[in-house]
Amino acid sequence: MTYWIDTHCHLADERYRDDFDGYMQAAKENDVAIINVICSSEEELMYALEKQKQYSNLDISFGFYPQGAEKITQEDLDFLVFVLEKYPQIKAIGEIGLDYYYTREFAKEQKDLLIKQIEIANRFNKPIVIHSRSAAKDTYDTLKQYAKTRVLMHCYSDSLEMMREYQKLGYFISFTGVVTFKNASKVKTNAVNVDLDKIMIETDSPYLTPVPFRGKDNQPSYVRYVGEYIAQLKNMEIEKLQLQLIDNYQRFMGANND
Ligand SMILES: [Zn+2]
Repeated sequence: MTYWIDTHCHLADERYRDDFDGYMQAAKENDVAIINVICSSEEELMYALEKQKQYSNLDISFGFYPQGAEKITQEDLDFLVFVLEKYPQIKAIGEIGLDYYYTREFAKEQKDLLIKQIEIANRFNKPIVIHSRSAAKDTYDTLKQYAKTRVLMHCYSDSLEMMREYQKLGYFISFTGVVTFKNASKVKTNAVNVDLDKIMIETDSPYLTPVPFRGKDNQPSYVRYVGEYIAQLKNMEIEKLQLQLIDNYQRFMGANND
């Protein structure tokens, strides 16, 4: 059986709460069978854990985003450890990473926070979801030195050369709706060239809505438009791509290895 997986979305965000069941229903109608909900606060995490009781097809990831790293305290990191012990249903740590797009002012704080969270992931043998923007070299160096678990480069938008370096390390590479944008030639080239055993897709809802819904809020059901576009780009049958995406996600989450 084939289906789609939204490997990264912010479905615990407040904007989805008025009609959470509606978004889940739309996902179901579009064959989106698994949804990985990225939580970046205690409040979002508790909301997602509660929803998971009703929707067992929700996976949960939790971690502290690089923007705001200077405000994250030891107490927050202790909380991360605490919830990983208490809720084994938290499958991955993320999104975590480096973001120098607006400013490098807190680059050191970001790197420290990233390393600490990688070390926690290593300790719990949890995969990590990486956010990297305008910080390719630092991200690569930090991951190569510290990461000992599975790694997913979420919304990958750096160079083809860097993508190949990540693949050599065994990391997974994920594509969003950006791949469907007219002017996104670099991302399209990456999608054509990415190894089949490394590719993943996601919506990153509420951002980066794919064509034909560009301009509206994104939602998990739209991940099929990312997948269908990539199948076309790679000249693949949709079912074949789906089977590969399912296998990759399961290997990332640790279902078939260790
Ligand atoms: Zn995200």
